Amino acid sequence: MFIIINVSVTKNYAWITIILIYNVFYMKKIILSVEQVRELIIKNRYRVDDMTKFLSRCIDGRYQNKLKTQNSKVKTTTQNSKTAETNLPALAFPGGDVGEMALIMATANSYGFEVDGEKVYKTLNEVIGGEENFGFHTDRHAMPAGRQGDAKAASGCGHWKQINLDPKAYSLEKAQIDFIQKKLNGLKKNKKIDEIILEGEHLEGAILLVRGNWGILPRYKIETDGGSQETQVFIYHQSLVDERHQTLCSAWLRQKAVKLYNGCDQDYLYEALSEMAENHLMETAKRLAKGLPIYAIVFEDDGEFEIKEMGTV
Ligand SMILES: [Zn+2]
Repeated sequence: MFIIINVSVTKNYAWITIILIYNVFYMKKIILSVEQVRELIIKNRYRVDDMTKFLSRCIDGRYQNKLKTQNSKVKTTTQNSKTAETNLPALAFPGGDVGEMALIMATANSYGFEVDGEKVYKTLNEVIGGEENFGFHTDRHAMPAGRQGDAKAASGCGHWKQINLDPKAYSLEKAQIDFIQKKLNGLKKNKKIDEIILEGEHLEGAILLVRGNWGILPRYKIETDGGSQETQVFIYHQSLVDERHQTLCSAWLRQKAVKLYNGCDQDYLYEALSEMAENHLMETAKRLAKGLPIYAIVFEDDGEFEIKEMGTV
């Protein structure tokens, strides 16, 4: 901004070049205020489609507001000019379905119950309507030029990267991570599914914890004194995550993917899973979103919403 003032005064075109280079290569993250978050939500909210509410994406803010891949049964939900158009799943969770696999295994490790990886995977796929709906992503940085096929599936997902770097912090064992990676590589190979490749740099300026029957798109251009600037938000969709966990807990127990100790029931599993989900979210937030403000967003049915400041990571 201060450089721009200089330009208008000096009319020095060399400065303009410098500014352009600066803006392209060193785009600064904007830490989003309540008012900026309000503006973003008003433009970027969309109603959750009941048919596809259990499909997931990652908390990552770099998703395009419309997925280019075929991987989405999520329909455009525009009903009037007040809602955004998208085919992006509203259920945002660290790592998407990769994170879900990691979560149930970590919960089993931490609470000391048995888990059958194959059955957990199969049942999760049944709940989301088939392997072709399995939610995971990578990013452009993780794809070596000309050797895209060689990159491990999901290797550009920040959450999955952190789990790989520090399994202990996420209550996971190496063998479990290898098991999940094998499933992911299989998914990538069998071509039933296009791996989503997120483009560009991380520019998340806040974490949004969302409740209600509305989703939020993560990218938004905000007007600043220095012109229009790209921003993003990390999103965690609490109510869709909770609803899907209830369904998953019931299905996993029914399919004997999880065996609890005598006397422990579905409620116990749900509580354990919820607690570990919070641990996983905060572990990754600490690593990737240090210092960002957290806002709790509660939607009414008609799309109206409240924002509550929850401090910083
Ligand atoms: Zn991710």
